Amino acid sequence: MSKKEAPPSPVSLKTGESRLLGNAYIRAVNQANILDLFRSGQQLSRTDISRICNLTKPTVSAIVEQLIADDVLREAGMGPSEGGRRARLLEFNPGSSTFIGIHFGEDTTHVAITDALGRKLARRTATTVAGKPDASMEIARVLINESLSEIHQSLNKVTAVGVSVPGLVDRQSGACKIAPNLDWHNYPVAEKLSALLGVDVFVANTTQNAALAEHQMGVARGLQNFIWVYVGKGVGSCAVIGGRVQLGSRGFAGEIGHCKIEAPGVLCGCGKRGCLETTCANQAIVREAKKQVDSGRPTSLSELGNRVTAWDVSMIASEGDTVAQKIMTDAGRALGQGIATLLNVFDPQMVVIGGPVAGTDEHFLEGVRDYAARNCLESCGAEIVFSHLGSDIYLIGAVLMAMEQSNAAYRIVKTTKALDDQTNKEISVRWSEL
Ligand SMILES: [Zn+2]
Repeated sequence: MSKKEAPPSPVSLKTGESRLLGNAYIRAVNQANILDLFRSGQQLSRTDISRICNLTKPTVSAIVEQLIADDVLREAGMGPSEGGRRARLLEFNPGSSTFIGIHFGEDTTHVAITDALGRKLARRTATTVAGKPDASMEIARVLINESLSEIHQSLNKVTAVGVSVPGLVDRQSGACKIAPNLDWHNYPVAEKLSALLGVDVFVANTTQNAALAEHQMGVARGLQNFIWVYVGKGVGSCAVIGGRVQLGSRGFAGEIGHCKIEAPGVLCGCGKRGCLETTCANQAIVREAKKQVDSGRPTSLSELGNRVTAWDVSMIASEGDTVAQKIMTDAGRALGQGIATLLNVFDPQMVVIGGPVAGTDEHFLEGVRDYAARNCLESCGAEIVFSHLGSDIYLIGAVLMAMEQSNAAYRIVKTTKALDDQTNKEISVRWSEL
């Protein structure tokens, strides 16, 4: 890799860059790389770390001793012989810190307590109270306290709280600009919660957190470019480009659901008409189901009457009902209009569709694929798949986001190849943005 083509990486090992960035910065990057190795669950000796991270033994020792003193790493017995002596192994200490995830869902509020590896230790759920954000914060506080006492822990050990909100969130302040289905308007979620809990609180949109979870644990694990699309009461999207969740200048990026695609179109929850989500989200599926029942067509949907939900339609479709199948295919095609635009703009490797309807019936997915394949230029090679992480994805994403925001050591972005200045050999460089 020539100097001109090198990534703007703080660990590109170009000596000039290193001096400019300062030793403290380089040490932080090295520490992030070392911690990231251990977080994958490996037991490693100091020699292993030195070899894998291409660091000198004194550098490794200084960082490792500090991490042991901080209780983040711990001794894990003796490894196999390394040229005579058996080496002491180290491992990550999952109990070194605790994180909390909160998902303020449209119908239910979920709280999870996790260890430093994001593994759930306790969780609680309660009914969401729309229109009263102060009451929602209090519900979250109660759920957190109950969960913590179940595992005999207190808030003292909690490093950070991550929150998923189904609305526009200002990522800088952690305030929710608007969450239509919760009836929240300009509500300072981070400020209120951190006053209640005395812990750092980070807030993001549910779709952005879902994209983060999919990138780290789901079907898009490790992909550099993909789009996560939510279909439920509304439609939202989040692009992951170069391994990073794209937020936009304020955190409002990805609102594909409110792109106008029909004129004049049906009235949308946002107050405008003809938005994408009025053609393919839950309300569109239910509207069409009722129309089909009213028309007298023979379908199992008629047994549900006015209580029919989008989830019912997708389940009945998966059981072979041709009327329900056509409704799902048509809704998928309508979403395909938005997806085709995303494919043309972002050229992703994959599109992952999540939300309550996702994963139940393939007709919806087929509709999306069919429209996208016929209506985009060169980008239709992207795989279009359902998410398999289920409804916990927003909670998992909230925890992962809290980890990223509170601890730079969690932000390993990608591994790339570079030339070592000293040896002129190609080495693997783990590229982190701190
Ligand atoms: Zn709209």
